[in-house]
Amino acid sequence: MKLEGIHHITCITGDAPGNVHFYAGTLGLRMVKKSVNQDDPTIYHLFYADEKGSAGSDITFFEYPGAPRGRAGAGMVHLIVWRVASEQALDFWEQRLTEAGVIPKRANGSIRFEDPEGLDLELRVVETSEDPLIADHPEIPKEFALQGFEGVRAYTADPDMSHSLLTDTLGFVADRDDRFVSRGDSRSSFYAYDRAPGRGLQGAGTVHHVAWASTMEEHEAWRERVAGAGMDVTPVIDRFWFRSIYFREPSGVLFEIATLGPGFDVDEPLETLGEKLTLPPNFEHLRDKLEDILTPLPDPR
Ligand code: ZN
Repeated sequence: MKLEGIHHITCITGDAPGNVHFYAGTLGLRMVKKSVNQDDPTIYHLFYADEKGSAGSDITFFEYPGAPRGRAGAGMVHLIVWRVASEQALDFWEQRLTEAGVIPKRANGSIRFEDPEGLDLELRVVETSEDPLIADHPEIPKEFALQGFEGVRAYTADPDMSHSLLTDTLGFVADRDDRFVSRGDSRSSFYAYDRAPGRGLQGAGTVHHVAWASTMEEHEAWRERVAGAGMDVTPVIDRFWFRSIYFREPSGVLFEIATLGPGFDVDEPLETLGEKLTLPPNFEHLRDKLEDILTPLPDPR
């Protein structure tokens, strides 16, 4: 049984319109689902990904309107790394980000920058045989587009705490750069730690959780394995576009294991993903009320 790298990463924004402008506009991702938080349907849950809404490219945001900025600390992911194809792609992004008022920090093979709410992001040149997960954007040539996640870095008070869970239970492999790699049949992602600068504060511009991808068939077995390792894991929750379990890994980072399917096109056609507010069937009766409460969003395309 192997996890297929990162499924999605979920973060917090206090400004949904600005969030759409940055992720669907500046970074050129496709909004593949505009929905509500299934645990609090009065707030948005926005999903950005490649053209098909693939796992491995999906960054999602809960919107708490006006939420103050948080800061990453122990038990939180603090950096999200995307793949790009080449140094020429970095040249393109250095210019595009600068024109968008973002300050890019170029280093060998990568660019670091912050989103408008202070979330740390990186684009890194990665040579891989894995499929590039690309969205179409009129201003971004395909060869320069973001290609899906390479990995995330988290803060911990003590990296040894999580070693056994990550390797023995979840099947990650520790590599020479002190990273843990989840490698499935079609996709891989890294997970790595940095020493925590102090206590974190959940808020706008922070990561809420990271989800790892499982096949539909193996999902229940993953739950049993995680529970068997002593983790306090939720029952399987049907998120409609995928099924999920959640637990905190020993360093405190909230992990999810989510299924590769049924997918975002189960309830709207691939061609028009994310254009209208989509509600899971048991929330449909709240549509009129929710459309009044939720902040109007710009059309990302
Ligand atoms: Zn999630």
